[in-house]
Amino acid sequence: EARKKGQNHTIMYEPSMADKSVHFSQIQEALRSALSRGEISLHLQPQFNTDTSLLRGFEALVRWNHPRLGPVSPADFIPIAEQNGTIIEIGEWVLRQACEIHLKELLPLFPEALMSVNISAVQLGDPDFAAGVVRILEETGLPPDRLELEITESGLMASVESAAETMTQLEKLGIRFALDDFGTGYSSLNYLQKFPIHLVKIDKSFIHDLSGRQNKSRMTESIINFVHMLNLPVVAEGLETDEQLTLLRDWRCDFVQGYLFSRPIPAGEAPAYVRRILNQPSPVTP
Ligand code: C2E
Ligand code: MG
Ligand code: MG
Ligand code: MG
Repeated sequence: EARKKGQNHTIMYEPSMADKSVHFSQIQEALRSALSRGEISLHLQPQFNTDTSLLRGFEALVRWNHPRLGPVSPADFIPIAEQNGTIIEIGEWVLRQACEIHLKELLPLFPEALMSVNISAVQLGDPDFAAGVVRILEETGLPPDRLELEITESGLMASVESAAETMTQLEKLGIRFALDDFGTGYSSLNYLQKFPIHLVKIDKSFIHDLSGRQNKSRMTESIINFVHMLNLPVVAEGLETDEQLTLLRDWRCDFVQGYLFSRPIPAGEAPAYVRRILNQPSPVTP
């Protein structure tokens, strides 16, 4: 785990990243030029229908490869990018890149596939956000109903009124919204009715704890049932074992995503991945 020391503005990363401590201000500066230096890239991780084993689509996950630090986790740099505003530019790049690849490379192979893109609270709170999404869809030509935006509860809390308005506007175009990391925040039931949410993603901390932990299992099953009662589908993220898949199947979890099927792969490798799974029994099949 990376440790953040806000007090003295020092961030310490895992030895695997680079056994160095780096000043917060240096990271901030490095982020400002990361895009123009080509250090930012996109990985894609597939999602599958639990029942039919069919590919549902991909989640786009941003990657930053710093020349000296090596790969920096988005869990570490997204909060910094949110703080210094670079998330707006990075987020736009991610969205455009994801839409472009999806339309040109993946939809021709699998027209039903969705592309899911993570959206930060700062982006959602930006008054220009909706217009930016519309512009990117127009420029890339991606049909809006092939795009899903992943929002967290904290993202919704940050600006309740404007978020609802922005989402309603985009929903009318056919864009879907997924509530990400469900179960880790306040999990306020309010959010599910106040905002146009089309799908809920159960946080991977629930999935990892499934084996053996009775309480966690019951909670996960209840969350799935609860979301289903609202007529929304559920994605479980972070599946790593067959045991977890068996449980989620029993509980009628709609979609699954995790290392069990595939790690996030460089976007350039995604078309070959799709071709491979279309010619093979799906990886979800036991
Ligand atoms: P998230 O949106 O909840 O994404 C799921 C995270 O779980 C990803 O981490 C993914 O690589 C990881 N994961 C997937 N399957 C497994 C598994 O089986 N086991 C384990 N242990 N992990 C798994 P990643 O890529 O490091 O991203 C971390 C978080 O950073 C994301 O959580 C999301 O909140 C944020 N993030 C990533 N890309 C973007 C982006 O383009 N924009 C924004 N705003 N946030 C992003
Ligand atoms: Mg996500
Ligand atoms: Mg998540
Ligand atoms: Mg997360």
